[in-house]
Amino acid sequence: MNDLYARHRGVLPDWLALYYDEPIEITHGEGRHVWDADGNRYLDFFGGILTTMTAHALPEVTKAVGEQAGRIIHSSTLYLNRPMVELAERIAQVSGIPDARVFFTTSGTEANDTALLLATTYRRSNTVLAMRNSYHGRSFSAVGITGNRGWSPTSLSPLQTLYVHGGVRTRGPYAHLDDATFVEACVEDLTDLLGHTRRPAALIAEPIQGVGGFTSPPDGLYAAFRDVLDDRGVLWISDEVQTGWGRTGDHFWGWQAHSRSGPPDIVTFAKGIGNGMSIGGVIARAEIMNCLDANSISTFGGTQITMAAGLANLTYLLEHDLQGNARRVGGLLIERLRAVAAQVPAVREVRGRGLMIGVELARPGTDEADPRAASAVLEAARSGGLLIGKGGGHNTSALRIAPPLSLTVAEAEEGAAILERALRSIQ
Ligand code: PMP
Repeated sequence: MNDLYARHRGVLPDWLALYYDEPIEITHGEGRHVWDADGNRYLDFFGGILTTMTAHALPEVTKAVGEQAGRIIHSSTLYLNRPMVELAERIAQVSGIPDARVFFTTSGTEANDTALLLATTYRRSNTVLAMRNSYHGRSFSAVGITGNRGWSPTSLSPLQTLYVHGGVRTRGPYAHLDDATFVEACVEDLTDLLGHTRRPAALIAEPIQGVGGFTSPPDGLYAAFRDVLDDRGVLWISDEVQTGWGRTGDHFWGWQAHSRSGPPDIVTFAKGIGNGMSIGGVIARAEIMNCLDANSISTFGGTQITMAAGLANLTYLLEHDLQGNARRVGGLLIERLRAVAAQVPAVREVRGRGLMIGVELARPGTDEADPRAASAVLEAARSGGLLIGKGGGHNTSALRIAPPLSLTVAEAEEGAAILERALRSIQ
């Protein structure tokens, strides 16, 4: 155990998740690469979904942050805040939500908390629907809508939450149903739930489950849910913390792949939009956003320095068409990994859209989750110079690939080759 790891263990909580038998201390980064304290260089196939939407140490963002730090960082609210107004305008413009209002927070958790506050107040109900296997954050109310048992440490909650089928069907009773039958079964389940409860305020869902292992609902499932819920006045909250900003390639927002009834009522976002600076937020049409009749503030949500980073980052993303890059380079990477999968029995499925790619592992010839294989591949990839993530249900059996959106074709090839060697090494 290295010295920093020993000190970490001595002072930080045991439940703070860490990757690798010998955890890595990342000291710096550039583009799609990071370096650790021992000087090892890694291709970063995971930081894109954590912090770094566009590229590590992107000069445009670094410059904007430095200039703003030298000028002023003050309370986000109580005084007019130009960068906050400007970023809110830009986000409203690309949100697809009519008459949009934007509220900034410091994390995805707080964004979802705020979405719950709005929805429950607007609909005067503290019953909420959430998807099985979902992840929505770490606060008391966010774990109360997190269906993934591995990340939900308490069954107590300020909300009454009902979990809906449809989040994942990698294994279990629904695993072998075709899409249409699965959709029908899930809609029946939802309708049945609604028949036995007072009207919920909202359903919250990730367009692609992130922590859950990058699993997508089948085409038509969320659209069918929306039809049922719209009829009953239940709001739709799309948690875009992982799927927003073009990551999925074909769409700017994850919800656009699932919609036939227009935008969601509420969208939440966070993670990479600040390229490492803490920005989360909520977008909703004015009628919903303005339903609170008491004051609210956030000292740090929307500070000038985070907003300056967000503006520079969003500008770079749009000017360089990184959504298109995610579609093109992600498409190649998915193809390449599917070719590898065909030769490695431990790989059950390669799935995803754009630069949000999941590789599901199973004990060869079975459906059984294989968390040990997932950890072994993570370690082997690290030894080869590649950082990836893992995810899934309680038994983490999927590899997660989400590089910064500026990934090049050469880097995609390089990463795929390292991952191929790592997958073959565990056979
Ligand atoms: N929603 C989703 C879909 C997430 O993936 C996460 C973070 N993994 C969150 C919410 C919570 O975000 P944060 O960690 O910034 O609180």
